[in-house]
Amino acid sequence: MTTVAEMKQAAVAAIEKRKVEIIGIAKTILTAPETGFNEYKTSRLVQQRLEAMGIPFQAGLAITGIKGVVEGGAGPGPSVAIIGELDSIRLMDHAFHDPATGAAHACGHHCQIASMLGAMVGLTVPGVIQNLSGRIIPMAIPAEEFIDLEQRMALRDEKKIEFLGGKQEFIKLGAFDDVDMALLCHTNSVHPSKLTVGGTSNGHLAKYVQFSGRSAHAGGAPYNGINALNAAMMAISAIHANRETFRGRDTVRIHGILTRGGDSVSAVPSNVTLEWRVRSGNTDALLANSDKVDRCFKAGAMSVGAKVSITNIPGYLPMRNNAVLQETFLRNAHELVGASQVLVRRAGRNGGGSTDMGDLSQIIPAIHPYTGGATGTSHGKDYVIQDYETAVVLPAKVMAMTAIDLLAEAAAKALELKAKDKPAMTKARYLKFQRQQASVVRFDGARA
Ligand SMILES: [Zn+2]
Ligand SMILES: [Zn+2]
Repeated sequence: MTTVAEMKQAAVAAIEKRKVEIIGIAKTILTAPETGFNEYKTSRLVQQRLEAMGIPFQAGLAITGIKGVVEGGAGPGPSVAIIGELDSIRLMDHAFHDPATGAAHACGHHCQIASMLGAMVGLTVPGVIQNLSGRIIPMAIPAEEFIDLEQRMALRDEKKIEFLGGKQEFIKLGAFDDVDMALLCHTNSVHPSKLTVGGTSNGHLAKYVQFSGRSAHAGGAPYNGINALNAAMMAISAIHANRETFRGRDTVRIHGILTRGGDSVSAVPSNVTLEWRVRSGNTDALLANSDKVDRCFKAGAMSVGAKVSITNIPGYLPMRNNAVLQETFLRNAHELVGASQVLVRRAGRNGGGSTDMGDLSQIIPAIHPYTGGATGTSHGKDYVIQDYETAVVLPAKVMAMTAIDLLAEAAAKALELKAKDKPAMTKARYLKFQRQQASVVRFDGARA
């Protein structure tokens, strides 16, 4: 009879033995970054690794996503997903950016893919998987970073996706229908500990905004034009004028970029586009502030008599870390690095960012812990991994140990977790809520 401790030892030893290879996966992905729904090379690499481990999988889910399955040898039981995110952001000044696309792993997702595969190395050892009940589901999911709205809206128009985030699509496609709980581990550079659990994240809504004016010679006859760039500028100022109305407790973040500012400097800009984001930890504040921002875009259009079209796009929901899952992860973290190296954030501590693990956590038990090993500013040009053991090998081990705790001994822990869990939403309610957020607001500032 193999004990849980012996199984964990075997998994950790297998990961340790192959750690150079596992770290190599992260380094390979770092040098070939791909943005969401474009992760073809990264997806192929994951598929090759799963094939090499003899793990069957479905590919092409939400364009580039992968879902594998490993049956435990001890009979039926719950399914535990171990997730890695495939995508990078786009950041032209990052040290490891792709000069052709600007894609860069400035959020550390390359490490997640490696730690997910590393966990599978540990879990598929015969002495481990034979003694687990239920199933382990390795997943590589596209498009966590909610960027490239125009490109993704084109994919939506082609019916290749409906939602612009990868886990949202996985949920809609039913890829989580047979998954009972899920975990991933994200790198970070700011926490003073090796591992961090707890906390929450902001929900968000995205806006794709088009200002339309009238082109004219900018020197010869600007009085014949309607300057869409000036409309956008007025709108941005109006949004800033609302900042004093945001409450601290709502962790409001409102920010955006100008993606098209005009065509020729000699022509009055007639077509100006922006991508905007409204975030909050609280849905009421999020929706109220989204309306305020729409009002500001209308105000900008009205100021110069331009038109504006605002496409509201359903974003992410706040993260709910499941207490039992977190406690299980935490105990294994303590075992590997000691309690002094593990930070526990209170459940309401909001990091300000957003993740589609939040969406998943509304419908099934999930956790989104962090591991260290990175330095620099997240999403900044200097965000790099200095310590791959901490960024990749450590989370692989903790996730494998956590899965063992959940599914060993006839999956008693996973069954207890399932029995105690009360999801915030059903999948049907989640999809309905998200679909309700989609809208197009059109406003003619010349007619108002
Ligand atoms: Zn990120
Ligand atoms: Zn990230």
